[in-house]
Amino acid sequence: MSAPIAIIGTGMAGLSAAQALHAAGQNVELFDKSRGSGGRMASKRSDAGAVDLGAQYFTARDRRFAEVVQQWRDRGWVAEWSPSLYNFSEGRLLPSPDEQIRWVGTPRMSAITRALLGALPVNFGCRITEVFRGERHWGLQDAEGLSHGPFSHVIVATPPPQAAALLAAAPKLAGTAASVAMEPTWAVAFGFSEPLDTRVEGCFLQDSPLEWMARNRSKPGRETSLDTWVLHATSAWSRQHLDLPKEAVIEHLYGAFAEMIGCAVPAPNFSLAHRWLYARPIQAHQWGALADADLGLYACGDWCLSGRVEGAWLSGQEAARRLLEHL
Ligand code: FAD
Ligand code: NAD
Repeated sequence: MSAPIAIIGTGMAGLSAAQALHAAGQNVELFDKSRGSGGRMASKRSDAGAVDLGAQYFTARDRRFAEVVQQWRDRGWVAEWSPSLYNFSEGRLLPSPDEQIRWVGTPRMSAITRALLGALPVNFGCRITEVFRGERHWGLQDAEGLSHGPFSHVIVATPPPQAAALLAAAPKLAGTAASVAMEPTWAVAFGFSEPLDTRVEGCFLQDSPLEWMARNRSKPGRETSLDTWVLHATSAWSRQHLDLPKEAVIEHLYGAFAEMIGCAVPAPNFSLAHRWLYARPIQAHQWGALADADLGLYACGDWCLSGRVEGAWLSGQEAARRLLEHL
């Protein structure tokens, strides 16, 4: 039996590639530095139930992705979320309904990557620090000094700063990954024992430290006794306040929230903050995926396309396609 294909990263891109390769009869082995899958589609378990701290929802504009999302829906992994949408601009909060279909994982965002992972072999809590070439195969070194392998090919499915380091064996790919600048996002979550007296369930904001807020509990399948909210700061605010302690971030963003939501906001019964250092690429790209087919080294991720869940899925498919066409 030939050596398996290593995939570093169990976010949407890595799992999309894993699924495509598995479906084509290839053996894969996955690695992630985190304790679970999902990456930026992670949901944080908390005293207020699970809250989606990263991706809030996703849209499916590409036909192939739209088809696969229908399959996920039929399996109960995702459901449509039709929030009562608002827009906050120039100090005014106004309804902003639209026809866009928006999807969320059920009962939490991370349920999708959990389901995609299924029974595939995975090593969690395993930060890969080096991808090295042996005589015939690839090997991986982790932060504990352990080696993994041999592997026939390696797919790096991490954000670009980590990818650049892991792609050192292919300087051209490493250089491309290193050229991608990423923006941070501060996320905070609140839980209130009494539901806030507002119809808002999702809101895009301008002229505010916040760019997005969502009533997490309004998403399908969320079972929680608290009225949970997730707020995202703008990239500019997040960059300016990158090293602020979490308590100060919570205080600032609570203030911005209470100012714009248009109803009384009591002190939250629960709050948390999370800093996404590499939240999104500054600009979209059209690379699909990066490949050095002769070496057998590939990279994929949202940063190769649109910086969205859909882009991550498409990029994983493209990495797998290019690998398979070279076998
Ligand atoms: P990631 O999800 O980042 O996965 C990479 C994985 O690699 C991670 O699990 C990480 O732990 C692992 N990893 C990294 N380095 C190593 C290493 N050295 N060794 C082992 N493992 C490693 N998109 C939308 O479509 N809609 C939204 O509403 C939306 N909102 C967002 C809000 C926020 C705050 C953020 C941060 C993102 C949002 N996005 C949204 C973007 C979306 O989450 C991403 O496009 C998508 O999840 C990226 O998937 P990925 O697989 O490319 O990368
Ligand atoms: P989408 O079509 O719902 O939103 C795209 C953009 O259009 C929104 O950001 C918003 O500015 C605008 N918009 C859409 N509907 C609106 C409405 N009813 N009223 C007012 N403005 C509206 O979704 P998409 O194209 O799939 O984009 C995904 C979302 O993910 C975007 O909102 C994007 O900002 C967000 N995102 C955030 C991060 C982060 O780090 N915070 C990273 C990646 C993506």
